[in-house]
Amino acid sequence: MDYQALADLLFPDVQTTIEEVEARYPARNLPEGAKVTRFAPSPTGFVHFGGMYQAVVDERLAHQSNGVFILRIEDTDGQREIKGAVEALIGTLADYGVSYDEGLKMNADGSLTEVGAYGPYKQSQRAALYHVYAKKLVAEGKAYPCFTTMEELEEIQETDKKAEIKNTDWHIAAEQKRAAMLAGRNFTMDEVKEHLAKGDPFVLRILANGDPEKKTKFTDLVKGNLEVPENDEDFVLLKSDGIPTYHFAHAVDDHLMKTTHVIRGEDWLPSLPKHIMLFQYLGFKMPKYLHTAQILKTDENGGKKKLSKRDMGAKMEDYRQMGYAREAVWEYLLTLLNSNFEEWHAQNAEKSYLDFPFNIKKMSASGCLFDFTKLNDVSKNVLSHMTADQIYDAYLEWAVEFDPDFAAVLSASPDKAKAIFAIGRGGKKPRKDLCTWNDVKPYMSFFFAPYFTVNQTPLAKFDVQDIKAAYDAFLSSYVYTDEMNVWFDKIKAIADALGYASDMKAYKASPASYKGSVADISMFLRVAVTGRENAPDLYTVMQILGDTETRQRIQALSNTL
Ligand code: GLU
Repeated sequence: MDYQALADLLFPDVQTTIEEVEARYPARNLPEGAKVTRFAPSPTGFVHFGGMYQAVVDERLAHQSNGVFILRIEDTDGQREIKGAVEALIGTLADYGVSYDEGLKMNADGSLTEVGAYGPYKQSQRAALYHVYAKKLVAEGKAYPCFTTMEELEEIQETDKKAEIKNTDWHIAAEQKRAAMLAGRNFTMDEVKEHLAKGDPFVLRILANGDPEKKTKFTDLVKGNLEVPENDEDFVLLKSDGIPTYHFAHAVDDHLMKTTHVIRGEDWLPSLPKHIMLFQYLGFKMPKYLHTAQILKTDENGGKKKLSKRDMGAKMEDYRQMGYAREAVWEYLLTLLNSNFEEWHAQNAEKSYLDFPFNIKKMSASGCLFDFTKLNDVSKNVLSHMTADQIYDAYLEWAVEFDPDFAAVLSASPDKAKAIFAIGRGGKKPRKDLCTWNDVKPYMSFFFAPYFTVNQTPLAKFDVQDIKAAYDAFLSSYVYTDEMNVWFDKIKAIADALGYASDMKAYKASPASYKGSVADISMFLRVAVTGRENAPDLYTVMQILGDTETRQRIQALSNTL
């Protein structure tokens, strides 16, 4: 067979030579050891937590080594593409501060511009490049056209499926498939011409010469040393519409973009034999690979299973829905990536995560366990270390979308809202009342009249006369400008006067000698002022509410008793 003639027949429009293409994509001029990475999502909807995990590794490895991080859009599967997905994807990366050097970037008006000299960065715009390499493979006898119609292919697949369901004639079906594949290799130039004249569609297949009994040693930077069988499957390189499969696009793109490290999900590991073959056939140097472990979750029975698309937490958008602060999700993600991150961060609180020495060796090879308990833990910690101003801004940004009424209440009184957020903040051991933004309203809405209601239950076990007497005594002695210790001494004096222990030690030593303790008197006041038994520091709450409102609330409850 005259392979060059076959190549010219199949790709009459391809005039560009390999040399011309290679010249357009010269070696990058980067310092020694610099890594070139790329995040290559398909625009099929949303950024998966696992995808974000990979993107962070890409970003860290590239920028930690003064290299280049590329965003490549893998839109070769037009049917699965969702409108607006590219913009959403870029938005999510920006939200989490994952910056890339080359690829599509969003302008202020929402339009997209391509940045970088190694593009196009959208696979659908690279068809001409793939065809140059496809033609070369045909000309070298390493790829061939397959005119088997869709119907015929479906028939083969149908046989496969039936055999699989019955779990019986599986090997026979596989053999049949192989026989069909091998038969497809036999064709004459005249047959090809005939098909082309009729306008029959064809796919381009690789001519696989591997022996799966033979294994090649392969080192994955996360998975370690592997033995990979040779490929013997004539897999498709170009689909009948001329669009490449993932395999072919991966080889051509990562070669031309000079990718040094491919970070992708471990679901691609079984395809590695195909990729090794392709890089060899094309004469490309293989990049290094990091196949990242799946994100797992604990199932109902305590076992582990894959975090599926439908699970809460699988999509980055879920976190916003659930009310997690971005900073919290981010820090949790980093903790999963390198388990020593949390410890480092605690010791270097003032430093950015960009200063963290991210280490491939500390990545989990066998599965990262996603777990809400840990996320909540991290989240409480992160929120407790934010300043009142930061919390105020971040919460409002969320609440405007998810609780506009309460957002309006807070933004009408920013100083008051910030003073509330400041309670218990700033010290060595800040309070950890908030885990998600959903906790904000229940935590502080009692400060604002429309949301204030009183739950009297905690008062039930005390003598009403004592409670009323405590309220009266408090109202006649309370001075708004009192320092905290003066304020508390007055409450202790009320306790003594009513037969409640003002000294907790004395009370604990002999509870039967008292009606209760000063803690109970404080509780009476807390219920009146905040409406509930547990609330932030009462002195500060009164300071924020103001003299009039504090008195009114106490008087109002007293009147109902
Ligand atoms: N588009 C592929 C995916 O989303 C990319 C895999 C890769 O990074 O090579 O899984």
